Amino acid sequence: MPDTLIRFDFVDAAIRGEIVRLDHSWQAICSHRDYPPPVRQVLGELTAASVLLAASLKFEGSLALQLQGAGPLRLAVAEARDSLKVRATADWNELGEAATLPQLLGRGTFAVMLDASVGEPYQGIVEVEGDGVGAALEGYMARSQQIPTRLILACNADTACGLLLQRLPDQSSADADAWDRLTALASTLGAGEMLAVSPDTLLHRLFHEESVRLYPPRQPSFGCRCSAGRVEGMLRMIGREEVEAILAEQGEVKVACEFCNQSYRMDAAEALALFGPGEAGSYFSGNPTRH
Ligand SMILES: [Zn+2]
Repeated sequence: MPDTLIRFDFVDAAIRGEIVRLDHSWQAICSHRDYPPPVRQVLGELTAASVLLAASLKFEGSLALQLQGAGPLRLAVAEARDSLKVRATADWNELGEAATLPQLLGRGTFAVMLDASVGEPYQGIVEVEGDGVGAALEGYMARSQQIPTRLILACNADTACGLLLQRLPDQSSADADAWDRLTALASTLGAGEMLAVSPDTLLHRLFHEESVRLYPPRQPSFGCRCSAGRVEGMLRMIGREEVEAILAEQGEVKVACEFCNQSYRMDAAEALALFGPGEAGSYFSGNPTRH
């Protein structure tokens, strides 16, 4: 099935929703690394959730969801842009018996990072509560954003998908029972059904007795933002001393993008040129003498 995101709202209730299905983009993410199934599960749910949230960004930029822990799963991050380009990666140690999110993460934090192309980046961090990505994100939305949110997420090796319902602030004209009724309907959705059935059919099955307004479907896709320019910026940030240490050890600088495996290489002259002719590291470079 094609990758699809559909936004919708309920005509008689101040509740909005989105449903997403990622096949190609999720398979692209999985092709970059051999994720053990429990890690893949967490990463797939995180990826679907990031696309759901990015679809309502009001600015040009990106939204990243990041889990960080002291357990075998050290890091899982999914980043989606307002254009619905998505990428994700994870970093883990030997999993042992760990299978659920609390076992994988240990004591962990959940961060939501917003990065607009203009203005300051925003980061909100909470402790991870609940037994899965959906519960962790619902907790974040309730505590940090005061937005009641229900998320149903599912994933396997081929597909990552999710359903989001969100209560809008203006409840004046709303049907008072709608939130309870609609979230109860959403909760009937099992992972198997969600993975097997197309988003528009799922919406029809769940909400055919409600009056639902659907917006035109959008198509998420895999996309990485790495570039030689970004790698150069990163090397400038870690500083000349560190780059010289890498050159002394390896004779070149080699950086692989953890999201897409693209590798970037620089020989010593190229790497040192990043720090400008005035700092070329030579005895004879004409640096001002200290007195
Ligand atoms: Zn990349």
